Amino acid sequence: MRFEVSHVLDAIERRLTTEPALARAVLDLAEIVRFVDLDGGRPASLLRLGMVIDAVARHVAEENVQVYCVVDKGMLSDLDQPSSERMVVRRWADDGHVEVVPGAQPRVMEISELGGLPVASRLLPGLAPVPGAGGAVLAPRAPAPPGPSDLGRRLMSRRWRCPDPECALFNQMRVAVGQPLPRLRGVPICPRHDAPLADIGPSPAQDVLAVRINGVVKQRFLLTSAGPIVVGRAPEGGVGIILGPWLDEQAVAAVSRAHLVLSIDQRGLLAQDISMNGAWIHPGNIKVTPKEQRVIAPGEYIELYPGVEIGRPGSFAPGGAVNPHSVLAEAPTMSFRMPPR
Ligand SMILES: [Zn+2]
Repeated sequence: MRFEVSHVLDAIERRLTTEPALARAVLDLAEIVRFVDLDGGRPASLLRLGMVIDAVARHVAEENVQVYCVVDKGMLSDLDQPSSERMVVRRWADDGHVEVVPGAQPRVMEISELGGLPVASRLLPGLAPVPGAGGAVLAPRAPAPPGPSDLGRRLMSRRWRCPDPECALFNQMRVAVGQPLPRLRGVPICPRHDAPLADIGPSPAQDVLAVRINGVVKQRFLLTSAGPIVVGRAPEGGVGIILGPWLDEQAVAAVSRAHLVLSIDQRGLLAQDISMNGAWIHPGNIKVTPKEQRVIAPGEYIELYPGVEIGRPGSFAPGGAVNPHSVLAEAPTMSFRMPPR
């Protein structure tokens, strides 16, 4: 496989999240990069993270899955890692896409328990990435966590602020979507700066939603009561959920550039049809009255055109991508962007 490494690392970056509601697994990066048996290459390689992300995608049968990546501080000075790759990891940390902590393993276990995320690891209980079809497969070695713990839910229900003004995890400097899990040491602390976090109020209400095209979940995204999200073929300014690249010729003609506005208020999840061709609620095939905000109840999802659907991932019948696209072969085009906050 030939590819431009910097493009691949950009593609991998879009699969990193420190928002537990979007992550499908949590992992210790310093462990993953040393799985030499996955490709027989050099002692440490960042591309193995891509192989493990691909394995997670096959495991959950979805496209564009994201993982919560914890970086042991020592990795930033590990000379087995090419300096160009260490620079990339540092940039990811500076932007809040990954967490850098002293001692990654206990932190990975903490995130798994608080956030209810399976661990991708050979050393910790969870899903062991081993050589297999497509490069790596996940061998389950422990039951998946049942969901976020009560303590995790309580932590996620609050907004936290780090005293370090440059903090990319718990501050306005954060460019990544959502909020990481605080580290607990008696009190909630910033995993990066080891400083107690200030509780600045309740978190905005949020819902994880997904785009499903022809039965395959293409992307999960986070909607919060802090602001609406526009979904369409090509929303204005590229802000919102861009469906265009996933649509066939007929669907391109039927889905408006800006088709649907999603928002959350005290009534719950709301959808507003702003298209030329309409939107339908399933089950029931109920046409949404144009311009009117319609509450989307649990179990319901919205169809923009046959096979083009938006909803909570649990609303869709199971089934999905048998062989999701590899992050290592991803074209350098970006098909998903969040609105500025
Ligand atoms: Zn901090």
